[in-house]
Amino acid sequence: MRVYNFSAGPAMLPESVLERAQAEMLDWQGTGMSVMEHSHRGKWFVECAAQAEAKLREIMSIPDNYKCLFLQGGAYGMFSALPLNLSAPGQKIDLLATGDWSKKAIKEAKKYAEVNVVADTSEGGFTDVPKQGSFEVDKDAAYLHYCTNETIRGLEFNYIPESGDVPLVADLSSTILSRPFDVEKHGVIFAGAQKNMGPSGIVVVIIRDDLLEKARPETPSVWDFTQQAAADSMLNTPPTFSWYLLGLTLDWVRENGGLEGMAKRNKAKADALYSYIDGSGYYSNPVAPEVRSWMNVPFLQKNPDLDKQFVAEAAAAGLMNLAGHRSVGGMRASIYNAMPLEGVNALVDFMKDFAQKNG
Ligand SMILES: *Cc1c(COP(=O)(O)O)cnc(C)c1O
Repeated sequence: MRVYNFSAGPAMLPESVLERAQAEMLDWQGTGMSVMEHSHRGKWFVECAAQAEAKLREIMSIPDNYKCLFLQGGAYGMFSALPLNLSAPGQKIDLLATGDWSKKAIKEAKKYAEVNVVADTSEGGFTDVPKQGSFEVDKDAAYLHYCTNETIRGLEFNYIPESGDVPLVADLSSTILSRPFDVEKHGVIFAGAQKNMGPSGIVVVIIRDDLLEKARPETPSVWDFTQQAAADSMLNTPPTFSWYLLGLTLDWVRENGGLEGMAKRNKAKADALYSYIDGSGYYSNPVAPEVRSWMNVPFLQKNPDLDKQFVAEAAAAGLMNLAGHRSVGGMRASIYNAMPLEGVNALVDFMKDFAQKNG
């Protein structure tokens, strides 16, 4: 029996994707072998990889002057790859600190460059993003990095930061494909697949052509965006199975109305959960309402001593992985694209019941 999996990542995948992978496992496209057993340079896999890229371009409306790379090392790896690829030695990098993932990006970038934190919302406990226009970007900075959706605290930018002529770099790991997104306002977008786009093991980098050819010589070749762009992301053996599953997940997104369809689906889920929390008198969410994440919904209950009990009873009811991140406690429901509204409704019913018994 399938459960509702509220994990922050790796996360729930659409059932039809898993079923198709299962059906094709032993004999993929009549080749008598699984996709995992194919050479990444053979015509079958090369075609599969190209199709995944074409689908991503279509779904996200990625303009022709951007390359799509499919790399390894996760979004975390890109925290190092970005300064190495985009900043010259001595050049500053600007960053917005809005939560745990942007803080990690700052820490990594500092190994390679001087980092200028142009806005920091830690004082309010990372419950809001800085207002547009409230921070100043250094016009000589290599780029401005921000995290569109902070997965741990559950806050999401409700605007695209203005960076002037400085290239804008966005970490979309936990929000990619969840709603329409203006790629063209960005120099680089990157996202690990395992939140909203497939399984772990693959990270997508979407980079504007004019930002290539800037990598420092010491950049590891597998993370050199220019080299990987020239090699169709096959400088070394790519994670073929993850790439294939990413393609199947994109089919599912397309069949379900593309990004508009995802937005409708995700807004309905987020509205249902936040409106229940706010009206419950028992649960609370600390994030400023206008920047609450559609993907990750952290919540607290009146009696935090009951958190373990909440998580255990929910799991027994088939609602899995609701413990909050170890750094913040409480609970967190990650409701990525693949989570159906029925899953959120089941969670709300459980929460009502739990509050009634323990409130
Ligand atoms: C999960 C996550 C990461 C790290 O991704 P890995 O694939 O584990 O390296 C980075 N940024 C955000 C916003 C995330 O949610």
